[in-house]
Amino acid sequence: MQLYNSLTRKKAEFITRIPGHVEMYTCGPTVYHFAHIGNLRSYIMEDILEKFLRYEGKSVNRVMNITDVGHLASDADTGEDKMLKGAKREHKTVMEIAKFYTDAFFADCAKLNIKRPDTVEPATNCIQEYIRIISALIEKDYAYFAGGNVYFNSARLERYYLFNDYNEEDLAVGVREGVEEDANKRNRNDFVLWFTKSKFEDQALKWDSPWGVGYPGWHMECTGISLKHNGEYLDLHCGGIDNAFPHHTNEIAQSESYLGHPWCPQWFHVHHLNTNSGKMSKSKGEFLTVSLLEEKGFNPLAYRFFCLQSHYRKNLVFTWENLENAQGAYNKLIAKIAALTPGSAPVDQEIFNQQKEKFLKSVGNDLNTSLGITALYDALKVKANDETKLALLKDFDQVLSLSLLEKAAEKRAQDAKASSQTAGGFVITGEGDPEIDALVLQRAQAKKEKNFALADQIRNDLKARGITLLDTPQGVTWKTEK
Ligand code: AMP
Ligand code: ZN
Repeated sequence: MQLYNSLTRKKAEFITRIPGHVEMYTCGPTVYHFAHIGNLRSYIMEDILEKFLRYEGKSVNRVMNITDVGHLASDADTGEDKMLKGAKREHKTVMEIAKFYTDAFFADCAKLNIKRPDTVEPATNCIQEYIRIISALIEKDYAYFAGGNVYFNSARLERYYLFNDYNEEDLAVGVREGVEEDANKRNRNDFVLWFTKSKFEDQALKWDSPWGVGYPGWHMECTGISLKHNGEYLDLHCGGIDNAFPHHTNEIAQSESYLGHPWCPQWFHVHHLNTNSGKMSKSKGEFLTVSLLEEKGFNPLAYRFFCLQSHYRKNLVFTWENLENAQGAYNKLIAKIAALTPGSAPVDQEIFNQQKEKFLKSVGNDLNTSLGITALYDALKVKANDETKLALLKDFDQVLSLSLLEKAAEKRAQDAKASSQTAGGFVITGEGDPEIDALVLQRAQAKKEKNFALADQIRNDLKARGITLLDTPQGVTWKTEK
């Protein structure tokens, strides 16, 4: 796969340390509120990346943290404690807030067909890892203790400034306005590894450490969690573009100083989803969530489809109109697929391979998902039998995860139900599986049209799947043989 690398600023073949295997890390959500659909744009694109790597035949070990410690609204030493803010807002404990919003995050991910990473680790689970790493950094003279906190000494590095020349507006987030300088720092870019002096009187989560009771700096959690679950070498690190500086710069600084060797050669950053009024932010109060999309009658997968139509390295503007267009296109696509009839013809392997090659080339070119979608439409248009088309759609959907065949089966069942109602026809009283219902209705329709060969074939196919049909005066019912 060709992939752009934020570290080298070039697109190149993505090479892993162990051929065929990818150690992948993703910066996870801060769980003090619902994820907004901007956050989820990043997770959708990272999900596609992971699935594409697997589709190419690689094994992937993907790790994600959950930021449930303290964390400050700005680079580690000023700002406000987001978790505490959430707890106060909802009159709950910080851990209750973390649990509630972690579950909410994965529920949103499920609706968007975002796979759960192999390992998900809450930051509060790994305090001893951070203490071990920070102790070693002090030992190696990369860190110092001042005014009650432990700081990383950025002047010890020859090249600290990775990523900071992303002079985009997004990056300004890392260096928020109004950040007060911390007098304890030796250098402007030093950052906190361990706090004992919190700005907040009621800092909720604290742990004992060799430097006093306190809590880890934000950047430390990703280093600690990745080293624990990915090992000393990482192949691929992902996050939204606002994470690039200073978060990822600082992750690299502390990880490589601790390890004494390069850590991660490939960095993948997803650019932002914005609204017409600017950047989306959880702290702004009102923001767009998956639930809001659903309340307005949208299928979350239409939002996924919308995201796939543009490139991850471009900012994307969200408007309701854009989403409506995506929903319309998605519905049309599903209707086209629902109109395909799975027959008994064999898949045309040559056409299948040709089309698959196109898809691999498209998505394999720096995750060009919009060309991947074009390849999908091409597969629908190609001169081939419906079996071949369905096989291609199923294959591509391993990466795109748009539930194409499932939604098409649902649509067929709905349409069949609607037509049976209007025709005063068949009643389904089976076990509620839309695909089976659709086949049962198709058989009833075939019988009505005196196409007994097709009706018998459907009955026999279902029988082979352990499903028995019973014709009753009220209509057809079916049951699974137990
Ligand atoms: P957070 O929950 O704030 O830690 O952010 C979770 C992920 O969403 C991080 O990878 C961020 O970089 C990313 N992110 C934040 N805002 C946006 C946005 N507007 N568009 C895309 N990704 C974002
Ligand atoms: Zn991180």
